[in-house]
Amino acid sequence: MDSTVKAKILIVDDSPINITALVEILETEYDIFVATNGGDALKIAEKQKPDLILLDIVMPEIDGFEICKKLKSDESTSSIPVIFVTGSISEHDETEGFDIGAVDYINKPVRKAIVKARVRSHLETKRQRDMLENLTKIDGLTGIPNRRNFDEVLLSKWRCAQKSETHLSIAMIDIDHFKQYNDTYGHATGDSCLRKVAQALIGSCKRPGDFVARYGGEEFAVILSETDKNAALVVLERMKENIKSLLIEHSSSNVSNYITLSIGLASMVPIKDFSPDSLVEKADQILYQAKKNGRNRIEVAYK
Ligand code: GH3
Ligand code: MG
Ligand code: MG
Repeated sequence: MDSTVKAKILIVDDSPINITALVEILETEYDIFVATNGGDALKIAEKQKPDLILLDIVMPEIDGFEICKKLKSDESTSSIPVIFVTGSISEHDETEGFDIGAVDYINKPVRKAIVKARVRSHLETKRQRDMLENLTKIDGLTGIPNRRNFDEVLLSKWRCAQKSETHLSIAMIDIDHFKQYNDTYGHATGDSCLRKVAQALIGSCKRPGDFVARYGGEEFAVILSETDKNAALVVLERMKENIKSLLIEHSSSNVSNYITLSIGLASMVPIKDFSPDSLVEKADQILYQAKKNGRNRIEVAYK
């Protein structure tokens, strides 16, 4: 949740009067989405990823408790805070609501000051939690996704590719003779080089789903979904070209006077008995081959 854009709030209630009351209180400060039944609520939650959900309990068909349980059991919506908005409620039901993952209750008829204060406070908590979570996924030096992030994204993209039976391409990218670069120009210049390379790799990706991470040290990893070997090669060639045009001097490299990359590519339609890790391993093995074959080149597995 970005503090510069309006937070999104989903209001779920079967009564238009109740919805209007909440909308009037919140619409100036937030982006509001509305659902009048459980089915729509779940669909909107999944599509819009609201930052907060205000959920009525008593509704025909699916009640608020059921909706909350469904939200909490789906990975894509489980972290969205849910506040129940309710008329009278027994202590037993109140306890159940907290047990299934609600963060708070607001009583009906709703009162402006209370709605505003509770909403603001839970959004702030969510914002801080999101920020912390992002920090654990970003590499401190380069500002791009880190290895942990890569592992998560790989698993989810692997599953998607498996379901849709489409190609997934993994590339491992390693800077050539980077030890010598550090030895020649110093560690701080080495750090700055890593930042430039990271940005150039990210800048070489055109599709929103393309993913680049710092895998470790001077090694980067790329995931391209719905991308076969030939299409992946286009992206990787562009990466090589973009790094070349940075013209980062590397006088002690025996490959070029400038920073160069070696790249190993492995693409496949995920099959049973094959794990995402083994595709990464394959790309890594073929990267090693690129090093052996003289560096500053792309080698492809399963040719
Ligand atoms: P090759 O062409 O075979 O890949 O040789 P190389 O020297 O690039 O590979 P090697 O694995 O021998 O050395 C990697 C170097 O990367 C050594 C290490 O000091 C440097 N390195 C790793 N992480 C960082 C970092 O965060 N900052 C800087 N400045 N250097 C780093
Ligand atoms: Mg290297
Ligand atoms: Mg290396």
